[in-house]
Amino acid sequence: MKRAKPIVAIDGPVGAGKSTVARKLAWALGFAYLNTGAMYRALAIAAREAGVSPGDADVEARLKLVLDSIRIRFDGERILLDDHDVTAAITEPEMSELASQFSAIGAVRARMRDLQREAGAAGGVVMEGRDIGTVIFPDAEFKFFLSADVKVRARRRFEELRAKGAAITLHEVLEQLIERDRRDRDRELAPLKQADDAIAIDTTNFSADDVAAAMKKKIDAIINGGKDLKRA
Ligand code: C5P
Repeated sequence: MKRAKPIVAIDGPVGAGKSTVARKLAWALGFAYLNTGAMYRALAIAAREAGVSPGDADVEARLKLVLDSIRIRFDGERILLDDHDVTAAITEPEMSELASQFSAIGAVRARMRDLQREAGAAGGVVMEGRDIGTVIFPDAEFKFFLSADVKVRARRRFEELRAKGAAITLHEVLEQLIERDRRDRDRELAPLKQADDAIAIDTTNFSADDVAAAMKKKIDAIINGGKDLKRA
């Protein structure tokens, strides 16, 4: 069944600018914005509270129990875990690390896939993550893959964390970022990669405003191009 409104999928590695750009683009289009990384991070909080660690022999079974006992949902841009607002807590570097490790596990990906497909089913959404254009909505009307120079990505992430008062060095951020990307790219299930039909954008030398404006332009051009084709 065709969706009433299109889906915009944005994928890419850490610090490529996905969240800021997706938020701006959603606003410009009048669409909802959905950050799928936040869902993996919320699960990481619940799993840590339940005492589950990535090294546990029965980690997948334990995560399944956690997934069955929690509710993750968005209230606008705030993310709620069982009605507790965890929007700030999910940005902790520890949650980045745990989310990255748990996200390679089949039961986790399967549940997130179902939740994300349900959330985006009606369209009218800008969804960002690692596998939106390849696995979650391979039929998304618009797909973008953002990337940027690794040092620039680390600097962006570092400044975000510093603004929140995190005690971390640029070098530590760079190392964590490289490791998280490697894990996301090398995992067996839904690895981070550009969909064949995604538009690639290197954000190294551009502001989030510029990138969002360029994406909006491309979307408008494709929509108008489609109309012209129909008219012809
Ligand atoms: O996007 P963000 O950095 O907040 O995501 C946290 C982690 O969640 C990523 O490092 C990645 O391992 C995982 N993730 C994923 N698939 C997505 C979104 C995030 O595997 N669609």
